[in-house]
Amino acid sequence: MRHLLDLSKDEIAAWLAEHGEPGYRTAQIARWALQRGVTDFESMTDLPAALRGTLAAEFTLAPLEVLATRVADDGDTKKVLLDLDGAGQAVEAVRMSYDPDEDGVPDRTTVCVSTQVGCAMACAFCATGQQGFTRNLRPSEILAQVLHFTRERRVTNVVFMGMGEPLANYAATLRAVRWMVDPDGLDMRQRGITISTVGIVSGIRRLAAEGLQVGLTISLHAPDDELRRRLIPTAGGTTIDELVEAARGYIEAQGRRVTFAYALLDHVNDEPEQARRLAQRIRGLQAHVNLIPYNPTAGIGLKRPSRERVRAFQRELQAAGINATVRVERGQEIAAACGQLRTDVLSATRSGDDEAASRAASIEWRE
Ligand code: SAH
Repeated sequence: MRHLLDLSKDEIAAWLAEHGEPGYRTAQIARWALQRGVTDFESMTDLPAALRGTLAAEFTLAPLEVLATRVADDGDTKKVLLDLDGAGQAVEAVRMSYDPDEDGVPDRTTVCVSTQVGCAMACAFCATGQQGFTRNLRPSEILAQVLHFTRERRVTNVVFMGMGEPLANYAATLRAVRWMVDPDGLDMRQRGITISTVGIVSGIRRLAAEGLQVGLTISLHAPDDELRRRLIPTAGGTTIDELVEAARGYIEAQGRRVTFAYALLDHVNDEPEQARRLAQRIRGLQAHVNLIPYNPTAGIGLKRPSRERVRAFQRELQAAGINATVRVERGQEIAAACGQLRTDVLSATRSGDDEAASRAASIEWRE
C-alpha cells in the first residue's frame, strides 16, 4: 500500500479531483497528516466518512516504529532508530534542542535526517560510508523522521546530515523538502532547512534552480583534489574548482551564502598551510567554513586533532579573511555526532515494546 506522504501535494489534489472531491480537501488532509501528525484517516473528523474509507483503502499514514531511543545532554539531544519495513532495515534520526541562552538564538530545535540506508559515497572517515549502500529512502520515510519529533515538540530546523547522500536521492529529498516548507505541511521556514552534500555538481545545479531558499552545505574536507579524492574516493572526476563554481551558481541563484563543511582529521588535512590553500580556493565567494573536529569511529585509523590544532586552523582561515566556525558538538556519548549515525551496539533505552526490541536486536548493530 502506498504511503500518502510519498505523493506530492499536486498528486493528492489530482487524486481527490478524480474522486469528485473539492480542492480544499488537499489542505485539510495535509494539515491532519503533517501538522497534527495523525497516523490514520479515521481521525480526520472533518472529512466525509466515505472519503476517509476510500483513502484508508488506498493509502497508509503509518509512522515508522521506534526500535530504540537514546538521550543525552539532559534530554536536549535524542537519537532514535526507526524501523523501515520490519525486515531488518532501520534508519537513525537525531533531535537537538538549543536553549535561548546557549547561542543567543531564540529556541531552536533541529532534526537531523537520513536520506538513504547506508551510503554509496564511501568517505574514508565516515561511519555510514563504511556500510555501503542499501537503498534510498522514500519521501514519506524522510518526513517520518521529522514527524516523529514534531509529535513531541515544535521543530524549527531540519538538516540533511544524517545517513546517506541527499542529492543522490534527489527526487525523494526534494519531495520531502516541499512538504516541510508547505504552509499546509510542516510549514517550516525555507531557510530553516539545510541540505548537506558530498558535492554532486549536477544536484547542486538542479537544487539552485528549484526556487527554494534552503541552505546548502558542501562537504569539502581538503584544499586540493588529490587529498580530497583520497578522503572521498567517489569524488572521482569532480574537482574543487567545479565545486566552487557550483557554489557560486547557488549563491547567485539564492542570494545567500553557502557553507563548506571541513572535517578536521589530525595531521591529514589540518595543517595551517592547508588552511591557507583552502582560503585561497574559496576567497571572494560568499561562503563560510564550518570546521567539524573528526568524531572518531571504531575501525577507522583517523584521529581528532587537538583543540589547539583546531583553533590554529580556524585562525589561519580567519586571518585570510574567511569566515570560519567550529561546529558545536552534541550527543557524542550516544554516537549521534556527525557521521556516526549508524546502528551501534544496542544497550540503550528500548522503546518499551518487546516486539520492537527483539526486532532491533535482530538488526545488525555494528561497532
Ligand atoms: N552526504 C552528506 C551528508 C553527510 S553527514 C555530505 O557528505 O555532506 C554530514 C557531514 O558530516 C558531512 O560533511 C560529512 O563529511 C561529515 N562527517 C562524516 N563523518 C564524520 C566524522 N566521523 N566526523 C566528523 N564529520 C563527519
